[in-house]
Amino acid sequence: MQDCVFCKIIAGEIPSKFVDETEHSVAFYDISPRQPIHVLVVPKKHHTDVAQLSYADPAALVDLVQLGSKIASEQSTGSFRLTFNTGAEAGQTVFHAHGHITSTTPKEPIAK
Ligand code: AMP
Ligand code: ZN
Repeated sequence: MQDCVFCKIIAGEIPSKFVDETEHSVAFYDISPRQPIHVLVVPKKHHTDVAQLSYADPAALVDLVQLGSKIASEQSTGSFRLTFNTGAEAGQTVFHAHGHITSTTPKEPIAK
């Protein structure tokens, strides 16, 4: 979709710090991390938010959750949050569905 920052990242038009991908989803580091681990899991097709994604493509939502939990198990001790801000008043700023994988317990100490 035109003027969507995550569509541009998925198309390779804007750089990102790639983490992993599947057929349906891509994961990259949040540009302003708020936790020691902060990765975004994003459907490759444009949907406005997680509610819309759940109706339009439930398999892609399951895929996104599975990718996020795989990354969390690789990068953290396994305890993580998966957050979907949905709607501007709830703090959503990018209107392409995405989950925030955050964890305060990295598996490896973070290099300073
Ligand atoms: P939300 O506020 O839930 O819509 O989350 C949007 C997230 O996208 C924020 O945490 C931003 O820091 C992050 N973000 C915005 N632009 C980029 C970008 N170019 N690369 C990586 N993360 C981004
Ligand atoms: Zn988009």
